[in-house]
Amino acid sequence: MAEVGAADAAQEREFLTYSGPTPGVKYPLSVTYCGECTMPIEYCEYYVNYEKCKEWLQKNVPDAFEKLTLGKASGEGEADKKEEGAEGEKKKRQTRGGKGLMKAKKKVEPQGIRMWTASRGKKKKVTIVVGLASYEIDLKEACKFFATKFSCGSSVSGDDEIVIQGDVKDDLFDILPEKWSQIDEDDIDDLGEKK
Ligand SMILES: [Zn+2]
Repeated sequence: MAEVGAADAAQEREFLTYSGPTPGVKYPLSVTYCGECTMPIEYCEYYVNYEKCKEWLQKNVPDAFEKLTLGKASGEGEADKKEEGAEGEKKKRQTRGGKGLMKAKKKVEPQGIRMWTASRGKKKKVTIVVGLASYEIDLKEACKFFATKFSCGSSVSGDDEIVIQGDVKDDLFDILPEKWSQIDEDDIDDLGEKK
């Protein structure tokens, strides 16, 4: 019993540390594991960093790589071919790989932009802008842009919130769509002043 366990562990280790073709072994093996994403190389294309995988494959298993990229349909599925038809197997493979490895791309729909002013101190006002990130705008860059544009302080103050010194709401109606074409003037909501 113990011997089996040790053998398993050794095998496991070999699996984990596998880093290239072994001399004298005929390639491709039924399953070749990628040194980049650690998955069977058929799955590499689902990996978020497939470009890295490709580099690894090209370097370490050029034959298999060529097969993967050129004759995709031909040598595929030797590892776990079962009673299922080729079509079903392929489908399963795709959903399985997709779910497991593809980074769920968080596509945020544009939420509209809200802005309002608030008082800071006796006379000072700030403008708060919320929603830019949902237009795939980098908030830090936006801050820099506002700071330059208005010659004032501007900072990211939340998940999707920017504070600009001064009351610049009126300007923003023009400036935002001008700077970022994905923003429509109608997307911008002026919520007035909040205390
Ligand atoms: Zn890979």
